[in-house]
Amino acid sequence: MRWTDEQRALRDAAEQAGRLVGADHLERDASGEFSWDGWKRLRATGLFGLPFPERFGGLGRDLPTTMYVLEGLGYACRDAGLTFSACTHLVSTGVPVQRFGSPALRERYLPEIVAGTMIGAHAITEPAGGSDVTNMATTAVAEDDHFVLRGSKAFVSNGPIADLVVVYARTGRPGSPVAVTAFLVRRDSPGLTVGGPIGKMGLRTSPLSELFLDDVRVPRDHVVGSVGAGLLVLDAVMRWEILCGFAGVLGEMQHRLERCVEYARSRTQFGAAIGSYQSVSNRIVDMRIDLETSRKWLYDTAERMAAGENVATDVAITKLIVSESNVRSALAAVQVFGGYGYTTEYGLEKDLRNAVSGTIYSGTSEIQRQRVAALMGLGRTAPATGPTGGRTA
Ligand SMILES: Cc1cc2nc3c(=O)[nH]c(=O)nc-3n(C[C@H](O)[C@H](O)[C@H](O)COP(=O)(O)OP(=O)(O)OC[C@H]3O[C@@H](n4cnc5c(N)ncnc54)[C@H](O)[C@@H]3O)c2cc1C
Repeated sequence: MRWTDEQRALRDAAEQAGRLVGADHLERDASGEFSWDGWKRLRATGLFGLPFPERFGGLGRDLPTTMYVLEGLGYACRDAGLTFSACTHLVSTGVPVQRFGSPALRERYLPEIVAGTMIGAHAITEPAGGSDVTNMATTAVAEDDHFVLRGSKAFVSNGPIADLVVVYARTGRPGSPVAVTAFLVRRDSPGLTVGGPIGKMGLRTSPLSELFLDDVRVPRDHVVGSVGAGLLVLDAVMRWEILCGFAGVLGEMQHRLERCVEYARSRTQFGAAIGSYQSVSNRIVDMRIDLETSRKWLYDTAERMAAGENVATDVAITKLIVSESNVRSALAAVQVFGGYGYTTEYGLEKDLRNAVSGTIYSGTSEIQRQRVAALMGLGRTAPATGPTGGRTA
C-alpha cells in the first residue's frame, strides 16, 4: 500500500513513543509489570483515538491507517505486552461503544476511551470454556431498569487495570445465535471483583485476570447493541481485534527479520558470515516470505472489509497466517542467534513465548480452521454469519 505523508507522520509518532517505552522491557517481562509510563506516552500520541470520530476527541482515520500506525508501534516498541494492551483497549471497548452503543453511551464514555483515561477490556471467556461462546454460563437477567449479571470470566486482558469492561452474558437459550448480550460494565460497579494478575508464558507485561460478577446491576442503557445481539457485536469486535492486533504483530516480525539479517551478516563462523550458509539464509528468507504474506493478507482483508465486502473467511485465514507465521519467525530467530537466541538478554526467547499466545487468543487456530471449513460447507456447525460455532472472526 502507498501511504501519505500524513499517515507516515502518525506512524512516526507511534514509533517514537514506542522506542521510549521499550528500554526496561526485559526487567518488566521478568516481573510481569505493566508500564504506566508507556501508557501515558501512547496516550499523548492520540493512538487510542485513531479510528474514532473527531467529535469524541478521535482522529477519524480508517481501519488500514489505524493498522499502519499500530504496525509502527509493534515495530518500534519491544514491550509487546504494552502493544497488546493498547490494541485490546482500543478494540474491546472503543469499537463496540462507537459502533453499537446508544448516543448517550457514546457521549458519556468515548471521550475517555479515546483519551485513554479510562482503560477498556472485554470478558467473553469463562473458566469452563472460551471457544463455545453460545453456551457461556454467565447470565444477565432483566429486572426493572437494569440487568443483573451473575457468573465469572477467565483471562481478561487488561482486567487488573481496566475501568470499563464489555461483558458478554447469556440472556437467551444456550446454543442459540441470539443467546448473548454485550454490556458495558464499570469497574466500580458493586458486586464486580477483579481477580489477581494471572501469571502466563508470554505477554507478561499485559495484565490478565479473572472477573467475578456477583449480582452486578447494569443499567439497561449500558447494553451495547440490543438484547440478544451480543454475538453480532463480538463478531465485529473480533474482526477489528484480529486486524489491529496482528498489525502490531506484523511490525514485530519486521523488526525481528531485520535483526536476523544484521546478525547473519556480522556473525562469522568457519571464517565466513553465517548468512552465507544456505541453511541459515534460507531460514531468513522463509521469515521474509511469512512476513510479506502476512502483510498482504492483513491489508488486503482490511481494505476489502472497509469497502463493505464479506471477509468472514479472509479474516479467519489472515489470523491463521499471521499468528502461525509469527511463531515460525520467532522460533527461526532463536535458531539464527544460536546460544544468544536462547538467553533472556537478547529478548528473542521472549518473542517466542509471546508469539505462542497469538494462536490462542481471538479464537484458536483450531476454531479458525473450523470456521473456514464451515464457510466451505464442511464441518458440523455452519457459522455462515456471526460467530456461532465458536469464537470466530
Ligand atoms: C494472552 C491471552 C489473552 C486473552 N485475552 C482475553 C480477553 O481479553 N478476553 C477474553 O474473554 N478472553 C481472552 N483470552 C482467552 C482466549 O480467547 C481463550 O483462551 C480462547 O478463546 C480459547 O478458549 P479456552 O482457553 O477456554 O479453550 P477451550 O475452548 O477449552 O479449547 C481448548 C482446546 O480445544 C480446542 N477446541 C475447542 N473446541 C474445538 C472444536 N470445536 N474443534 C476443534 N478444536 C476445538 C481449542 O482450539 C483448544 O486447542 C485470552 C487468552 C490469551 C492466551
